[in-house]
Amino acid sequence: MKAEIIAVGSELLTPDRMDTNSLFLTEELNKLGIEVVRKTIVGDDRDLLREAFRDALNRVPLIVSSGGLGPTEDDLTRETVADLLGRKLKPNDAILDAIKARFRSFGREMPDTNVRQSMVPEGAEPLNNPRGTAPGLWIENGEHMIALLPGPPRELEPMFHEEVLPRVARRATGVRMFHRELRVTGLGESLVDSRIQPVYKRYKDVNTTVLASPGEVQVHLRMWTEDAALAKKTFAEIEQGFEIALTDRIFSRDGSTLPEVVASMLTMNNATIAAAESCTGGLLAERLTSIAGSSTYFLGGVVCYSNEMKTAWADVPKELIEAKGAVSAEVAIALAEGIRRRVGSTLGVGITGIAGPGGGSEEKPVGLVHLALASASGVKERAARFPGDREMVRLQASQAALDMVRMHFLYNGVAKRG
Ligand code: AMP
Ligand code: MG
Repeated sequence: MKAEIIAVGSELLTPDRMDTNSLFLTEELNKLGIEVVRKTIVGDDRDLLREAFRDALNRVPLIVSSGGLGPTEDDLTRETVADLLGRKLKPNDAILDAIKARFRSFGREMPDTNVRQSMVPEGAEPLNNPRGTAPGLWIENGEHMIALLPGPPRELEPMFHEEVLPRVARRATGVRMFHRELRVTGLGESLVDSRIQPVYKRYKDVNTTVLASPGEVQVHLRMWTEDAALAKKTFAEIEQGFEIALTDRIFSRDGSTLPEVVASMLTMNNATIAAAESCTGGLLAERLTSIAGSSTYFLGGVVCYSNEMKTAWADVPKELIEAKGAVSAEVAIALAEGIRRRVGSTLGVGITGIAGPGGGSEEKPVGLVHLALASASGVKERAARFPGDREMVRLQASQAALDMVRMHFLYNGVAKRG
């Protein structure tokens, strides 16, 4: 089955508010095997709103809208849809009483404007809203199903689960969408795509999307079928092909992030980690500690931005910095070894680089980052030149450091396959 989403609200057409409800709704509808083929964002305008619903009715059997069910003049969804379908609005006493009771529970009287929220188009079912005043509405019109839901996500989301889902499921077929997400790091988007294309091109029933974000590439596989076993088998075949094409660059097969993968590797190996960061300013520590339970593996770290602090906090010899420069392989190594020794952790990470936009030279351009990982078996160092602005360089540097830790466990430890 196909569906469209209509997000109603003039605020959604400004830079201040983003339509997030349609993302939630799309994910939920997909789980039911319903494909969202179009999304419309429309302001609080009677004519445009009418047109949006009219056009959607000409295309798909299911329409889910959000917003415009409030008590004020600019909330037009209820009236507009009733009018479009030629249904009269009737006052519903039960809803009116519930709204009044809700106001009373806050010690207030219901303002007259809220009476509008108790109006129900003929033949429509009100959808219970325990978290707000406006009930949603469910309308079946011939072959069409229309769900009108309130705008606030905290009201819309439970209402969808409790009221809309059972009604849609009743009418949906057995076809579902199966989804698999793989994440890759250390290779650019086009390189990933060119390597895996020969694999995924052979599967006409699978929709493959390659998405880039800083420091990683996500590969999404989507398949619409009734047959769960077929989807599983197909994804396994494709993954096997991807693995040959991308080797150890795939770090996640279940949507988990690189910090999450590294965290579970550290935990499984009973290992601890510490970091001495210069150009990333603590970003690596931040990303490692944003995961619940990080105290089991993350011992601490320093942001040693100045040369003096590299010496004072991570024991980088002053003469080494003078001889090689703060951004050098030698200093990255000294940072990693120094912090590991100081903290007494299993692993020590050192990061030094030029995040830009200033500070670059011909020899050491903006984006150049030296990374090192110290362990009992010695120290590994790598240099990288990251594209993009300051924020991008810093994020990619933290990502590359995490990937060095991942590679360490992949080849020297009990490793979790991504
Ligand atoms: P409404 O039901 O139109 O009165 O919407 C009430 C509030 O819900 C708005 O002020 C927004 O904060 C929020 N809202 C409305 N539509 C959306 C949407 N599509 N995504 C996220 N929030 C929304
Ligand atoms: Mg609104």
